[in-house]
Amino acid sequence: ALKLDRVCKSFGKVQVLHDIDLAVEEGEFVVFVGPSGCGKSTLLRVIAGLEDATSGRVEIGGAEVTRTPPAKRGIAMVFQSYALYPHLDARGNMALGLRQEGQPKGVIAERIAEAARILSLEPYLDRRPAELSGGQRQRVAIGRAITRQPRLFLFDEPLSNLDAALRMNTRIEIAQLHRTLGASMIYVTHDQTEAMTLADRIVVLRDGRIEQTGSPMELYNDPANRFVAGFLGAPS
Ligand code: ATP
Ligand code: MG
Repeated sequence: ALKLDRVCKSFGKVQVLHDIDLAVEEGEFVVFVGPSGCGKSTLLRVIAGLEDATSGRVEIGGAEVTRTPPAKRGIAMVFQSYALYPHLDARGNMALGLRQEGQPKGVIAERIAEAARILSLEPYLDRRPAELSGGQRQRVAIGRAITRQPRLFLFDEPLSNLDAALRMNTRIEIAQLHRTLGASMIYVTHDQTEAMTLADRIVVLRDGRIEQTGSPMELYNDPANRFVAGFLGAPS
């Protein structure tokens, strides 16, 4: 579904991504882990086509992402900060992208109703972000992604602002969502439990390079080095 071929990214003279090769299968759940500043968010933004790679290729469904119009990329991103519009209610926030795509009103209403049902957001559709809890805001942000019916979801630390109980509930919801929709997902987290429970495959990043890739059990039982072990909590 998604293919990265020797992707590099520099900001000015500083190179933050080095020769990233990665293929994500249809329906696969891939988790990126790595220390703060290692390039996880930048990599997501390059995959989404929000940033150009300095060199290398990003292909989704066989087409280069930055040459595909945003509405046709089949990618939806959920940000850590939620990135909701404060003056719009939950319904308006979920509708905005679909309106920009030129979807008819009936389709927009249907997709919002479906996302609201999946995420139990029905009682909150008329509220603005300031009138919602953090967890409800995050569900609106996830709902907005669902309404786009993407082939690929990108999550950038979506649960890091939530308390422990809500984090667990939302993690379970995301796992269910993955099973229900069958879409590919790439998910950035610092949280070892999230990585171990959600991932089909974990990609460990360090200083803009892929340090190791494997299933949660492979990385747990056979980390390439102490750095990887440190992230996934295998006893050393
Ligand atoms: P965190 O876990 O803290 O979110 P991250 O792994 O997501 O970190 P990035 O946000 O991708 O890290 O940043 C990688 C590096 O690129 C950092 O050194 C950061 O300062 C730098 N960087 C990111 N965006 C820009 C930008 N627009 N201009 C210049 N430097 C940038
Ligand atoms: Mg980040």
